[in-house]
This record gives sequence, structure tokens and C-alpha cells, in this order.
Amino acid sequence: MISPILILNCGSSSIKFSLSDPDQGAHVLSGLVEKLDSPGALLKWKGAHGGERELGLAGHREALRGIVGLLHELNLSCSGIGHRVVHGGEHFRKSCLVSEESMESLRANQHLAPLHNPVNLLGIEAAREAFPDLPQVMVFDTAFHQTMPERAYLYALPYDLYETHRIRRYGFHGTSHRYVCEEAARRLERPLEELALISAHLGNGCSAAAVLGGKSMDTTMGLTPLEGLVMGTRSGDIDPSLHEFLCKLLNMSLAEVSDMLNKKSGLLGLSGRTNDMRELLQAEQEGDNRASMAVTVFCYRLAKAISGLMVGLGRLDALIFTGGIGENSIPVRQRTLDLLPFLGLKVDVEANQSHGLDQNGRISLGTSPCALVIPTDEEIVIARDTATLIR
Ligand code: ADP
Repeated sequence: MISPILILNCGSSSIKFSLSDPDQGAHVLSGLVEKLDSPGALLKWKGAHGGERELGLAGHREALRGIVGLLHELNLSCSGIGHRVVHGGEHFRKSCLVSEESMESLRANQHLAPLHNPVNLLGIEAAREAFPDLPQVMVFDTAFHQTMPERAYLYALPYDLYETHRIRRYGFHGTSHRYVCEEAARRLERPLEELALISAHLGNGCSAAAVLGGKSMDTTMGLTPLEGLVMGTRSGDIDPSLHEFLCKLLNMSLAEVSDMLNKKSGLLGLSGRTNDMRELLQAEQEGDNRASMAVTVFCYRLAKAISGLMVGLGRLDALIFTGGIGENSIPVRQRTLDLLPFLGLKVDVEANQSHGLDQNGRISLGTSPCALVIPTDEEIVIARDTATLIR
């Protein structure tokens, strides 16, 4: 037995945290420090007498000290810290202990995720100050996809860009894809090594992955999390000439186009209304044609990507839906599966209505292939990897 692991997910303006038991798979405490670096920084937590408190003008360091203080007050201890790190580049093929050497390698990868990695590094440094006696581990969103073969990860660009600058497809949401695939094997009572799976993680960010024998063979996100599926506010795939086209047509700067593709596109851009799938489905019911069109494009692009991922697998045992939309949206699952009859998947309408809860997640008729709904748990993957490495 090991005491719980503190999991930290450091963003630019917030730190999400949870205290999770790797053996029981349970979360003792979870919380968030938001509005970092503004006068109203706020620490909120759930579980163990939930509550909230103001931290004043707090940056990452002060926020982590606030979390240390909270754990002391609640009389909670932890045996190690697991950090969610967005981009591990090619260097990190699996989770690893934080050391001077691994920090140096992470710094060398900063250019690959300029928005995320510097703040992840800052979080690790601040956590080392706040918890000087605890071992720490980095768990990467990209690591799971490092098994992708060259044919899947190379862009058809001058090869020198890969050789010199490591410009290639990396993929993200690795901890989630890994968790739901392991869970699918458990539910199907078959060894993961035998299974051909496609996992669709559909949250605010969305990606799908082809996983053969537990190894990622291909995925929809690329060098950055902008590639691939339609997402809440991200466009996913577009014509690579679009930047130049818009710069000329609308006199936009490159930064403005990137901002539009990341923050004003996807479901939000198409609907002109919201990035929230639940609200869009409600609006569709009330007759909003653009909301309906946004959902239709979302499902079509998802189905198209799933059928493309089949090339990396050759066969299919199960298609897994996860993430806020995948776990909860009955119509999105139905409409996506309706586009994929050639995969041999047929929705079990009743089971889909209840999210497969009575059938171990299964929402399709017939035995193989099947469609499954499996709630993801990225924190547990981070807690388990951390516990394994510090043991
Ligand atoms: P994040 O990527 O930020 O973790 P989530 O995995 O929580 O996001 O997913 C958020 C998305 O899930 C939102 O689009 C939200 O509308 C959608 N969602 C949550 N519950 C439902 C529901 N009952 N029906 C449809 N969509 C839902």
C-alpha cells in the first residue's frame, strides 16, 4: 500500500489538482486554483469537507503553497506528486521521475508546445519548492503515441524539417486513450495484447486513436492539439493554405488566424452560439438550424476519422466513446455510429439511451465489433504511473 498521490495539472491561469489513491482507484480530494496572477486567485476543493478560499494575488508558487497548507489542515498526506505534462516530444516514450536530467530534456522540447510546456515546467519547479521531500513524476499526453509507426507520424514535408526540428505528428490525450483501452480489455475479458480498438476522446478537445495490442498506431491530433477532429472551439483539419488565404483576403495577421482556429472555430464557430455540446443539442431541439449543422459536421468528421483510423488497425474489436461528449451525448454516439454501418456496428438504441450502464458500457448489438461507453480517468493513470516509479 502507498499513501495517495497528489496530481497536478498546471495551466497558465489555473492549477487543477487531485489527491488519488493508486491502489483503490479512488479520488480523496480534487480541486482547482483559478485566476492565477490576478488579485482574485481562488482555491476551491471538493471531497474532505469541500470549500473555497481567496489566495489574494497568487502565482503558481503561492498557489502550490496554498495547496500544501490545505493538505496540512485537512490532515492529508501524500507519497509523491504526478505532473501532467502536455508535450514530451520524442524523448519521453513513457512517464519518468523528475530529475535535473529529465527537466533539461523537457526544456529542450519547449519549442514544441510553447503555450503549455513552459507553464508545466514552472509548475514542476514550484512543486519542488513547495514539497521538497516528495518524489515527483512527469506523465506526458504524447508518450502513449510514441509507438506510432513512421508512416503515421510523418508529415509529407521536406524530411529535413523532421530530422532537424522534429516536426512530426505526436498526438495527445494519451493518458485517456490508454486508460479506456485498458478498461475495455478488462470489460471484454480479453487480453489487451489481442485487441484492435479505436478510442474517441470527445471533450472540449477531441481526438481519436487506433490502438492495436495496447499500442497506439495512429491518432488524429498532430504536432499540436489543433489537428484532426472538430472540437469545442478548435477547427481540427483545414486546408493548410488557409493561413495565407485569410492573411491576403482579410488582412489578418498569422497570430489572428491562429487565434481564430484555436478559440473561435469548431462547434462555436459553426453554430455562432456555443462550444458546449449539451447546449447545441438543446438548441437543435428548439429549431436552431446552425446548431444542428454544427453537430452534423462534428459527427461526420468523427465518423470519417474513425474509418480512416481503421487503416492503421486492419480490423476492429471495439470502438470506445469517452470524454464529456462521448460519455454523455446519446445523439452524438447514435449519429456517428449511423454513419459507420460498414464497420459492422449497429446501435442498441436502448443501451445507448442509458449510456451502456447496464451492459458494462456496451451500446451496440452483436458481439464483435462492439461500441462501448467508458468514462475516462486520466488522474488514475497519472497516480498509478507515479506510484510505480516511486515504489
Ligand atoms: P474537457 O475537455 O474540458 O475535460 P469534458 O470532457 O468535460 O471537457 O467535455 C465537455 C463537453 O462535454 C462539453 O461540450 C459538454 O457540453 C459535453 N457534455 C457534458 N455533458 C453532456 C451531456 N449530458 N450531453 C451532451 N454533451 C455533454
